[in-house]
Amino acid sequence: MGSAITLNQLGKTYPSGHRAVHDVSLHLDDGEFLVLLGPSGCGKSTLLRMIAGLETITSGELLLDQRPANDLAASERDVSMVFQNFALYPTMTAAENIAFPLAVRGDDEHAAGQAVNAVADRLGIRSLLSRTPAQLSGGERQRVAMGRAVIRRPSVFLMDEPLSSLDARLRVRLRTEILSVVRRTGATTVYVTHDQAEAMALGDRIAVLRDGALQQIGTPHELYSLPANAFVASFVGTPRINLVHGTLYAPIDGPMTISLGSQRLVLPQEMAHTHRLLRVVQGQQLLVGLRPEALRVSSAPTACERPLTATVTHVEYQGHEVLLHVTVGAQAADPPPTTSFDQESPAGNPLTATVRNLLSRVRGTRPGQSRPTSHSAPPLPNHYQVGELVLRARQGVSYRRGERLPLLVDIRALMLFDASGHRVFPHPTRLQGF
Ligand code: ADP
Repeated sequence: MGSAITLNQLGKTYPSGHRAVHDVSLHLDDGEFLVLLGPSGCGKSTLLRMIAGLETITSGELLLDQRPANDLAASERDVSMVFQNFALYPTMTAAENIAFPLAVRGDDEHAAGQAVNAVADRLGIRSLLSRTPAQLSGGERQRVAMGRAVIRRPSVFLMDEPLSSLDARLRVRLRTEILSVVRRTGATTVYVTHDQAEAMALGDRIAVLRDGALQQIGTPHELYSLPANAFVASFVGTPRINLVHGTLYAPIDGPMTISLGSQRLVLPQEMAHTHRLLRVVQGQQLLVGLRPEALRVSSAPTACERPLTATVTHVEYQGHEVLLHVTVGAQAADPPPTTSFDQESPAGNPLTATVRNLLSRVRGTRPGQSRPTSHSAPPLPNHYQVGELVLRARQGVSYRRGERLPLLVDIRALMLFDASGHRVFPHPTRLQGF
């Protein structure tokens, strides 16, 4: 059971002129579980609803099981959908809600009853089958909704933030259950979430969306260790990747260095082969990305580590770990914006001109002047913002605010992004690092 899904440059412009999805291309193999991840408003639901047939496709092509599906009605697609708000029939019992798709299909009552019991067993809700939705907790209702969605064994399963209205503990438990139930059906699944931890825990692969555009598609490990850009790097992983401004110097006759403001990282000779690749960005302001595990407090570097002096600004107790916030004199950085206001159709919204005017004043540009696009330099804060680096503290060692520490940076885990946020190191064509 299952069906491949292919999106070829799929796009959606709403009648208001708002372009919610931009030329998204991706392919899901039969039976694959893909997570669509991105911040609220980035177009995840729109994309899902286009696959379901609940939203028209305004450009590009959708293939279900290798057949063109753009114009298929929702009922003609063998697709089941689970939403955030469970939408159960309030007057029906849990058993009747689950059995509903089978009743619509005209299945034999006895067989339907057996199927309901089997699904309820798998979801751990057998004892709740005679209750109505009002007599169920949020987590139980969502299990019933899951049961209703899987019972007719769809080829494609679409889930739109199915757990986001539940509390954190329940979310973690239910997501593992969902995964096992869905895997048993063999359905190809697209699961939408804005929660990166959920995405990392669930997905065979994750597709990251920002402002309607696909940023990267890859395994959780690929997104974490080789993010395509600073946005993906900062969206995936907790604690968040440390991003600070830095400038690379790559002299012909000496080692490359990264200036972080008041301190410098001298890069190892082993990186010489990246010299030519990185020289194109030398002298430019870059974003330096360091995940917490790239940093440790010690004054005894290995061959891959380079020293910095850090000052403790905050010690954060998390129970299972202690996070150390330090400064090294570098300037804080954020992923550069990809949004250009050109995405809005000028004819679309009568407020647009006014809003643009206001926005351009806030941004310090006049209307008509060129606005930042994905290729422009990241806006620099107009006051010096000292960037904090976060790392995991060693167990059993206590640190004081203001304390100065020897910090080591593991250069193998260093990431560099250019002014538009694209990763330049590790070089995209040299995935193995150095
Ligand atoms: P997400 O699921 O990632 O939160 P959505 O797909 O719901 O995002 O929305 C993407 C963008 O499209 C948002 O800016 C939203 O305001 C806009 N949008 C959603 N539905 C409509 C609609 N019917 N008409 C116009 N704009 C819409």
